[in-house]
Amino acid sequence: MTEQKTEVTNIVRTKDVKKIYRMGEEVVEALRGVDLEIQEGEYISIMGPSGSGKSTLFNMVGGLDKPTSGSVYIDEVDVAQLDAYELAWLRCRKIGYIFQSFNLIPVMTALENVTLPMTFAGLTTDEARDKGVELLKRVGLGDRVLHKPFQLSGGQQQRVAIARAMANDPAIILADEPTGNLDLKTGREIIELLKQMNSESNVTVISATHDMKMLSASDRIVWIRDGRIDRIEKRADLDIHIGDIGGDQEGGVKAGEAGKPKE
Ligand code: ADP
Ligand code: MG
Repeated sequence: MTEQKTEVTNIVRTKDVKKIYRMGEEVVEALRGVDLEIQEGEYISIMGPSGSGKSTLFNMVGGLDKPTSGSVYIDEVDVAQLDAYELAWLRCRKIGYIFQSFNLIPVMTALENVTLPMTFAGLTTDEARDKGVELLKRVGLGDRVLHKPFQLSGGQQQRVAIARAMANDPAIILADEPTGNLDLKTGREIIELLKQMNSESNVTVISATHDMKMLSASDRIVWIRDGRIDRIEKRADLDIHIGDIGGDQEGGVKAGEAGKPKE
C-alpha cells in the first residue's frame, strides 16, 4: 500500500472545474475552480458540509453532467471530447456508481440488478449469471441472490449496489454519500467493503461524504468548502487515531478536530 510506484497514472484529473447553476434570477456557484489529481488505486474521500459541492463534483467526474468551464480527464482523456457513444462506454465500463439511496431496480432480484450492466456490456446470460453470483458472494450476499430490494436491509441493498458497481471491472468507483442512509455499524461495514474492493481489485474509490468514519479508510482526504478545495490531506498526516473513527458517536470528536482548517 505504501509502496512507491515508479510511474504514476492520474486516473482522474480536473482542471479549474467550475459549475454555475442558474435558476431564474438565482445564480449558484456550486464549484468555483477545482483542480484535483487522483492516482490509480487511491481511496479518496471528498469531505465537506452539505451544500459544499460534493455531489456536483461527483457528477462532473462521473460524466453525468458537464462543467460550466474547465475540464475533467479520465485516464487523461478529456471527457468533453467524447461523443455520446464513447461517453456511454465510459459510464458502463470504466466507472461504477454508488448512491446514498442505493438506486436498485425494485422489480429485479439482487442478481438481476448486478448482471444488468454486464448485459449492457455484451456478456452472455450465462457469463453474467456466473459473474453476478461471484460478486454477490464477494459482498457477503451469496444467500440473497434471488431477493428483491424490498426483501433486503439497507446495508444489504448497498452491498448489492457495490456488487453492481463492480460488474464490469471498473477502474473507478464513484460513491456519493454511500453510508448516508445507514446506521453506524452498517456504515462501517460498507466502508470496509469498499476498502476491500480497493485493495483487492485496485479499483480507485472516490467517495463524496461527510461521514468521518470514512477518514480512516482514505489514502487522501479532499476537504471541500463553498465549491473550492480547502485543502488535501494524506491519512498519514491526519492527527487522528484510527481506533477513534466510527466509535461511540458519528465520526468521533477527534476526527472532527482533524477536519478543522489549519490557522
Ligand atoms: P453537496 O453534495 O456537497 O451537499 P451539492 O453539490 O449537491 O452539494 O450542491 C452544491 C450547491 O449547488 C448547493 O448550493 C446546491 O443548492 C446547488 N445545486 C446543486 N444541484 C443543483 C441544481 N441541479 N440546480 C441548482 N442548484 C443546484
Ligand atoms: Mg451531495
